[in-house]
Amino acid sequence: MKLSQVQLEQVDRQVKRILASDSYYGKKYREMGITGVKTQEEFERLPFSSKEDLRNAYPLGIMVAPEEEVVRIHSSSGTTGTPVIIPYTAKDVDDWAIMFARCYETAGVTKKDRIQITPGYGLWTAGIGFQNGCEKLGAMCIPMGPGNTEKQLKMMEDLKTTVITATSSYALLLAEEIEKRGLKDRLHLKKGVIGSERWGDKMRKRIQEQLGIELYDIYGLTEIYGPGIGINCSESTAMHYWDDYIYIEIIDPVTGEPVEDGEEGEIVITTLVKEGAPLLRFRTHDLSRIVPGECPCGRKHPRIDIIKGRSDDMFKVHGVNMFPSQVEDILKDVDGASSEYTVTIAHDDSVNRDVMLLTVEGEGRVSFDAMGAQIRELFKSRIGMTPKVIIVPVGSLPRSEKKTKRVTDYRTQ
Ligand code: ZN
Repeated sequence: MKLSQVQLEQVDRQVKRILASDSYYGKKYREMGITGVKTQEEFERLPFSSKEDLRNAYPLGIMVAPEEEVVRIHSSSGTTGTPVIIPYTAKDVDDWAIMFARCYETAGVTKKDRIQITPGYGLWTAGIGFQNGCEKLGAMCIPMGPGNTEKQLKMMEDLKTTVITATSSYALLLAEEIEKRGLKDRLHLKKGVIGSERWGDKMRKRIQEQLGIELYDIYGLTEIYGPGIGINCSESTAMHYWDDYIYIEIIDPVTGEPVEDGEEGEIVITTLVKEGAPLLRFRTHDLSRIVPGECPCGRKHPRIDIIKGRSDDMFKVHGVNMFPSQVEDILKDVDGASSEYTVTIAHDDSVNRDVMLLTVEGEGRVSFDAMGAQIRELFKSRIGMTPKVIIVPVGSLPRSEKKTKRVTDYRTQ
């Protein structure tokens, strides 16, 4: 998908603002002799920006707006190394809320809804993003933050929450708790807005069935405002994104070249009007594709497919490259398997071989032996290698309030 004339002019304005600043990218662009962007070709010659750059610019090196206009910072959850700090102007905060309110509307949420917010507050963009969008829309916000499942369920029942917002792992934990306690009929839940991690069809189905609600995938990342830059509608699982605020291109993660619409690759995002920390051609490492054609819902906003994984989630065993999404595709076809699994990889020194151990929760309807055999068979035929498989009862693997860690690789530690 090419930049429209309006988007090209917006990018050009961003480049000129960056050049006029004393920021990290201002220096970099001046050194590279960049003066502006008039065409798609010139745009595609702009360097990518990356999380690495943002770490190099720590703490406020990417700030382009004057200090007196900056009203807030957020920081990405960076589990390793230097965190990333993103400054926001008042307009950035407002633009983000407008986009987020549009997400709620696309999910059919209205002013009459009561939205319970379980993602975390603080430095990260999660909780406050869900809240600002809710208030912009005019719905009632129940700002719980994460954890304390007991209290979550009490508020959900007493306040007649209609919309739950959560990570997929926490939504699953709540769904299982609600089922265990037989609470479903005392609740008023209609919809769930689920953000911040990739999840398989199986997990979606379980949450949907246990709670009897519609689920929506919201997309976003701290570097680009936060969650709220796109969401799916009731007609499709692909996500509309707000192309008056961001431009998305899909590139081949290895060569960096743009791919055709419809082809899979890495999402690269350009902010069109962001003031505090404009980012051009930011590599997200999220894998997806542009979904060509119009959505049956009639909305004109372009769409990307459900996030398939992250280019850095790939793991390699016995020379075979694998993504968690491939593991999920296999488990989807295994009768009796729950959505929950972990992959552990280690090197067995005694035989000088890598070992992959797949632990899967079994629901108990099908014998664990039969499930294990079927999983091994499917791996062999579809991926070309056979892992060791252990089946454990449902509930054995950890449920997390944040992102679920699926793959642990002991070879790199
Ligand atoms: Zn649609």
